[in-house]
Amino acid sequence: MLFLGMEPLFATDQTRALVPRIREFVLNELVPLESTEHLTGNFSKVAKILDQKRELVRKAGLWGLQHSIDEGGLGLSLCEFGQISEVLAWTPFGHYTFNCQAPDIGNMELMNKYASKEIKNRFLEPLKEGHIRSCFSMTEPEFAGSNPTQMGTVAERERSADAGDNYLINGHKWFTSSADGASFAVVMAVTNPDAAPHKRASMIVVPTDTPGFELVRNISIMGDPSDHWGSHAEVRYTNVRVPVDNLIGGEGMGFMLAQERLGPGRIHHCMRWIGIAERCFDLMCRRAATREIEPGVMLGEKQFIQGFIAESRAEIDASRLMVLRTAHNIDEQGAAAVRNEISAIKFFVANMMLRVVDRAIQVFGAMGVTDDVLLGWYYRHERGARIYDGADEVHKTALARSILKEYGLDTRKKVAAQV
Ligand SMILES: Cc1cc2nc3c(=O)[nH]c(=O)nc-3n(C[C@H](O)[C@H](O)[C@H](O)COP(=O)(O)OP(=O)(O)OC[C@H]3O[C@@H](n4cnc5c(N)ncnc54)[C@H](O)[C@@H]3O)c2cc1C
Repeated sequence: MLFLGMEPLFATDQTRALVPRIREFVLNELVPLESTEHLTGNFSKVAKILDQKRELVRKAGLWGLQHSIDEGGLGLSLCEFGQISEVLAWTPFGHYTFNCQAPDIGNMELMNKYASKEIKNRFLEPLKEGHIRSCFSMTEPEFAGSNPTQMGTVAERERSADAGDNYLINGHKWFTSSADGASFAVVMAVTNPDAAPHKRASMIVVPTDTPGFELVRNISIMGDPSDHWGSHAEVRYTNVRVPVDNLIGGEGMGFMLAQERLGPGRIHHCMRWIGIAERCFDLMCRRAATREIEPGVMLGEKQFIQGFIAESRAEIDASRLMVLRTAHNIDEQGAAAVRNEISAIKFFVANMMLRVVDRAIQVFGAMGVTDDVLLGWYYRHERGARIYDGADEVHKTALARSILKEYGLDTRKKVAAQV
């Protein structure tokens, strides 16, 4: 039984019309591609096939689901798109095929709101059409990503009669996801070193064919460096020169834009994780119902396994309600007003998803750790969920501090006094 995207409390005419169509597409066109060959090694193998599937998405009128009506999309609210994101996550290939995969979706949202007309024409339009890919380059190996104000990458302004007004960028990044084959990077670099820490950095568009952009390697993640969209790169920027017009927003706005990018981004991730949990739950239940553990006794007749199933069901449903409520509140009040809710869903849902993946692997026994089933793919590729977009500990601390403030305890003041 598929529960996917079926939360009547938040259903609208749009989701009632779209969810069944997208679910059908995912089940008929994408799930059959989940062979061991496509789930291991380089992503570029399956990307060729997915690019053909993208044509079917266009023909079905389902391209650009996430965009506003002005941008040629369907004008879905965050809460509506979240429900679709869950359905797409039934397979690792869903978001890519519908061109709403991270990091591109975040870059599209950001550029649509803050980039100049020229940047939009040159970079955003082909990105929206799926003709190119992009990446987001903020984290650095030498500095704690959890506190990115310590960034080492610098963009110095350079004016010359022949070359015009440029930024000269120097720095070292890693975990620039999907940089391999991307046409441009949105790079976070310090442009205003003397400003307050949160006003020092800016976001600058850097085409990856600019001299000085070096993709050092695709970092191996639990034995799998992959390539193409499925990779996470180490990148060096050495005297990379780009026009100052490549700035997104204004100088010193980098952290503000990063926060803006992360608000809806966390809803996208959480709904994707709920879809992953549903998929693993489905696999777990099928296995429990059919694996004979003793003559005439199925695995699902054991109470331990029933516990896995019952706990997973309750945790997935609770997570969906939390995330859709948060998405609805962002739609109504903006992300800043619901920061606590966003922190809560980020760590709660990431952990829930990983618990369900792990329980499903346990129920499958040895087969669960092979690449003959999808579970191993999720185990490798989704462990990062508790680290990126704010590690668990950072979100828990932020939430607890905000709650304690209501009780008259200002923990920030104390930290400042200690320093
Ligand atoms: C799969 C994946 C994809 C990613 N994609 C991108 C991308 O596309 N672009 C990009 O720029 N970056 C990306 N990142 C990087 C990510 O944003 C950083 O890993 C993250 O910000 C954490 O930074 P760090 O790895 O330097 O860990 P650190 O900052 O060194 O933190 C290490 C650990 O310390 C703990 N910790 C941190 N702060 C606190 C605190 N205040 N209190 C208690 N404990 C704390 C947490 O457990 C944390 O995991 C990606 C990461 C992963 C895993």
